[in-house]
Amino acid sequence: MYDFIVIGGGPSGCLTAYLLAQSGFHVALFERKKFPRKKLCGGGVSYKASKLIEKIVDLSNLKGRVIEGSYLSYKNRHLTYVGQDKASYSIHRSEFDNELLSKAKMMGCEVHMPSKVFEIEERSKEICVKLNNGSIKKSGFLILAEGITGNLYRHI
Ligand SMILES: Cc1cc2nc3c(=O)[nH]c(=O)nc-3n(C[C@H](O)[C@H](O)[C@H](O)COP(=O)(O)OP(=O)(O)OC[C@H]3O[C@@H](n4cnc5c(N)ncnc54)[C@H](O)[C@@H]3O)c2cc1C
Repeated sequence: MYDFIVIGGGPSGCLTAYLLAQSGFHVALFERKKFPRKKLCGGGVSYKASKLIEKIVDLSNLKGRVIEGSYLSYKNRHLTYVGQDKASYSIHRSEFDNELLSKAKMMGCEVHMPSKVFEIEERSKEICVKLNNGSIKKSGFLILAEGITGNLYRHI
């Protein structure tokens, strides 16, 4: 029995798993895909967000383009340019997620991948999670970080 089960290995799930493991909790994370996996994303990270992320992940090898400002257009007509004092940049998303997952693992989180959760059952004192291989895992709490394409939220 785990203290926490985290479903989903995207940034939400991995960061939560990392912080829980860091606080001494017994955590397991289940991710249906095998990382590194492709993820549709522009990879834009603001300056403020990068300062938070860099406390955990070294972004220097993951950086793509530097973003110094944005052009605003409407119907092919250029309207304005907004510059930024502090540059943000894009990251390589699949590598970034993979790196964050390995940080959670290094912190002591058990990572199960590929491992799809297909059912969640809430009992009075525990949560039961059913996996695609037929096994059942239990925890005191559940973090559902399945992203926008997930549908497990319907079970709870
Ligand atoms: C076209 C596009 C461009 C974007 N550009 C940007 C951008 O430039 N900057 C930015 O900050 N954000 C951007 N986003 C948004 C960003 O991608 C999301 O906000 C972010 O991925 C959400 O992270 P998450 O961890 O909540 O979910 P996700 O990253 O979606 O991760 C959820 C994970 O859960 C897993 N999962 C789902 N169901 C199950 C299950 N039953 N069992 C086990 N695992 C499961 C999935 O495989 C997935 O890996 C963009 C999104 C899109 C679509």
